[in-house]
Amino acid sequence: MSGDIACPYCSDPSPPAIDTIQSPYHDAAYLLFSCRKCGSQFFNLEEGQVDLEALYEEQASEGGYKAEEVFTPSPYWRRQVRVLQRLHGNPKSVLDIGCRTGDFLLHWRPDIERVGIELSARAAGIAAARGLEIVQCPVEQYSPGRAFDIVTAYAVLEHLSKPKAFLCGLASLVAPGGVAAIMIPSHESAKARRLGSQWGMYTPPLHLSFASGEALDRLMAESRFSLVDRRFGSGGLFNPFKRIPVARGLWSRGMVWADMHGPLSRRPTFDHMYSYYKRKG
Ligand SMILES: [Zn+2]
Repeated sequence: MSGDIACPYCSDPSPPAIDTIQSPYHDAAYLLFSCRKCGSQFFNLEEGQVDLEALYEEQASEGGYKAEEVFTPSPYWRRQVRVLQRLHGNPKSVLDIGCRTGDFLLHWRPDIERVGIELSARAAGIAAARGLEIVQCPVEQYSPGRAFDIVTAYAVLEHLSKPKAFLCGLASLVAPGGVAAIMIPSHESAKARRLGSQWGMYTPPLHLSFASGEALDRLMAESRFSLVDRRFGSGGLFNPFKRIPVARGLWSRGMVWADMHGPLSRRPTFDHMYSYYKRKG
């Protein structure tokens, strides 16, 4: 059934297909494979051929990317900055891969070198207009010939057709002693397990693969990275008070704190998995 398909993380051949998932973007269904060796899950990119670049651009405009005239800090990104500062101290340079309109980078002081990579022309244009150094190219083609103190990839890995090559490439982008932060949707979380095929992250062909924690750590270790922190959060999406303004705001602030520091953050309850790695010197 699976032909010559191999796991994109550990290359284990002939993984079993465990489900069929309908794409929310076009009329095609994709087989969902599960690797017996490393526990990762993935779709087969060869199925349901679609112009991915056009689909991304369409999503970028539908996502309503707006250049805000005044930069408004968000509790979510502020929390990420604090976690990274605790792990690294004060960096001289930050590279955000898949930076969208630059919101995360704008949470760092302007005297820090802030570079973003963004594939969507629309999002990249907005980020550049906000004063950031933006490179518009597929991350696989980015080779600056230098390394950064902090490199982040929030919600990137699950989109890539060659996630293993991307993880290997991180070694040349992160300076020795530097920190890499990777956030991915985790199919190993209680939330994903409970929802099964209804899990909101099963969105082929934009989401192509889901690394297991074990697969991620092993590939990073091969590039001389060691895991220094791992947390699970809701990504700020879970809010039972959506319709009650004051409660919504309070919940949102509390949730951002709980996401990164509460007792649930150490266990795979919610489905956003944050992994922080330090590159050996
Ligand atoms: Zn595998």
